[in-house]
Formats: sequence, C-alpha cells, structure tokens
Amino acid sequence: MSTEAPQKAIFIDVEVDDAVARDTDLARKLTEVCPVDIFAQQTDGTLEIVEENLDECVLCYLCVDATPEGTVRVVKLYE
Ligand code: SF4
Repeated sequence: MSTEAPQKAIFIDVEVDDAVARDTDLARKLTEVCPVDIFAQQTDGTLEIVEENLDECVLCYLCVDATPEGTVRVVKLYE
C-alpha cells in the first residue's frame, strides 16, 4: 500500500436527489449524457457518482437538462 496520497483538489460537487438516483431510466440517461463519465450505474441499475471523475466536470449542464428541474445540482465549490 502506498503512503503517497495524490494531491487532488475537488472543485465540483454533483448532488442528485435520491428519487433520481434510484430511477434506473434516469440513471442510464445520466450515464449517457455526461461527457466525462461522472455518472455510472451500479449492478442493480441505480446511479453511482464516480467521485474520482468529479474534477473533470466541464459544467456542460447536460445532466441538469436530462433530469426533472432541481433534481440534479452541479455545485461549484469555488468562487
Ligand atoms: S455538468 Fe456536464 S460534465 Fe458536469 S456532471 Fe453534468 S453532464 Fe457531467
């Protein structure tokens, strides 16, 4: 096991309502639209947020457009 922790700053957080995360159709849609694979589907089809890809977010808001208003939020953790 390596003791070297990679210095990786995360500047973006993506919040998804539970109802969306549990909806396998919306989970598939999110998985398809995000260009940098921040969304994936777990084996049961529900949504998984791929934490290590969060800092790749290009703020395209395709995920926001693909889901009911207000259920997915892309939050910038910086000014
Ligand atoms: S804004 Fe774009 S890049 Fe960022 S999580 Fe949503 S779909 Fe992916």
